[in-house]
Amino acid sequence: MTISYWNGRYLPLDQVQVSPLDRGFLFADGLYEVTAAYNGRLFEAEAHVARLQRGLAALRIETGMSDGDWLAILERLTAESGVDGDLTVYLQVTRGAAAARAHGFPAGVTPTIFGMVSPLKRPPDSWRAQGVAALTMPDIRWGRCDLKTIALLGSVLAQQAATDAGVTDAIQIRDGFVTEGAATNVFVVKDGVIATPVADHRILVGITRQVIQRLATTAGLPFVERDVRAIELATADEVWIASTTKEITPVTTIDGRLVGTGKPGPVWSRVAALFAESQGR
Ligand code: PLP
Repeated sequence: MTISYWNGRYLPLDQVQVSPLDRGFLFADGLYEVTAAYNGRLFEAEAHVARLQRGLAALRIETGMSDGDWLAILERLTAESGVDGDLTVYLQVTRGAAAARAHGFPAGVTPTIFGMVSPLKRPPDSWRAQGVAALTMPDIRWGRCDLKTIALLGSVLAQQAATDAGVTDAIQIRDGFVTEGAATNVFVVKDGVIATPVADHRILVGITRQVIQRLATTAGLPFVERDVRAIELATADEVWIASTTKEITPVTTIDGRLVGTGKPGPVWSRVAALFAESQGR
């Protein structure tokens, strides 16, 4: 049984017991983070911790944990994972378990903090060679998609729609604009310019997205954050999805139609190579 972190202690995952009154269980009142570690080295851990701390402040969940405290948990779970090779560390924080069920914030509860490790299955080689297929669908999620909350039903339904259709991801559309995939950020490339939806309440600002932005900008590749119309998907030269677990994956078919040439494009190829370098490969 792999190691986990549970409210200040490190113990085997099967020894963790959650109260039915935990507000994560009753209200999805909490946040999570998924951080990768390649060959025992955490990738962009500080950025994941910064996003977690921002989210906790926005939801007024007070843990008393410093950035260093969070990093120490990530480091120890990684070091003692017992997992051979690449892994992810999952962290979840909820508002805690109150004495009774009531919607408003309970007084005097201690947040619940949980962490676990899992082997990381990296994107298959075929995704890099051929790209993946996606569908588009309406974005039915709430108005604060910038918070990485554990209320994931919209994303669950989007991913299942993709799975049912035999494709890899569901690109969500709100008011005629691309928001994001089921659990990925979306990028379109036209005439060499990389564009991705604006970092506002409509999307989660992915850490992978931040890395892509940094790498592209440093390499002098044109990169813009702007509203991306759904109809642009039909005329884009390239479309990519990106996340911690999907890395940067080219999308070569959307709603059954080829994207660009129908093959992973040259801009993707360049950025994917820079990304692999940043992962220490
Ligand atoms: N957007 C959503 C809705 C997500 O759930 C995720 C990751 O789970 C992402 C984007 C990508 O975020 P990251 O690159 O930090 O994994």
